[in-house]
Amino acid sequence: MSNTQTRFCKFCGEQVDFLAEFNDYYCRFCHSYQTHGESISVGGKKSPAYNIDPNPPPVAPPVLPPAWRGNIPMFRHREYLVMQAFLSWGPKYTIYNVTGHKMGEIKGKIISWGGEWNFFDFEGRKVANVKGNPTIITFQDKKFDIRDHQGRFKGAIKGKYGFLRRKWELYDANGRLVGRPDEQVWIKMNWRLIDPQGRILLTVDKKWFTFRDQFRVVVSEHIDPLIALAYAVAIDYMYFRGDKSSSSW
Ligand SMILES: [Zn+2]
Repeated sequence: MSNTQTRFCKFCGEQVDFLAEFNDYYCRFCHSYQTHGESISVGGKKSPAYNIDPNPPPVAPPVLPPAWRGNIPMFRHREYLVMQAFLSWGPKYTIYNVTGHKMGEIKGKIISWGGEWNFFDFEGRKVANVKGNPTIITFQDKKFDIRDHQGRFKGAIKGKYGFLRRKWELYDANGRLVGRPDEQVWIKMNWRLIDPQGRILLTVDKKWFTFRDQFRVVVSEHIDPLIALAYAVAIDYMYFRGDKSSSSW
């Protein structure tokens, strides 16, 4: 492999460095090697490693979908691997990219009147926030605002009471409906977010890993990866943990 040409990250589009000792290109913006992936090891168990395209990264910056362009590198990926740990003080999620490297962490605070998730990059900088509005009674509509690293409002997750339980919808910063989970949300292994035109925006696959409490998030080019990831994590928590463990959700 040669390092004479300027090349750009296959994932986020930033300029990559050639690391001779690894014989690979590396993106320091999203922590991604460019031609090989590694499995993720947690507690002695290993995830399957992705087959990364072995070609060198492109010599021109890749064209990113319009919905992704204003985002920081961490939120310009098509796929994320999320691992959960439930600690005494609240949920924690570690985010990996498909090359098996850590991209960041999400720390949740679950409190009776709402809930909050803070997203951090791999250097510990706060890069997003999801915060719930206080609710007094159980059968009240809930809303979680999603904000980026600059505190800009990016969208909202709204929980509307329907038959038997809430339906969590995703809205953009202009208040337009982005999508709703399809009926597969009742199946605990996989679910998808579908837009009003019926397109799949987001797929969450909980079977991909070899161990519990992990999931894979696949983001389409029609949705901002920041709000997609925020939604995937919040929904995973609210459908599969919060709704059954606490009446205040
Ligand atoms: Zn990158």
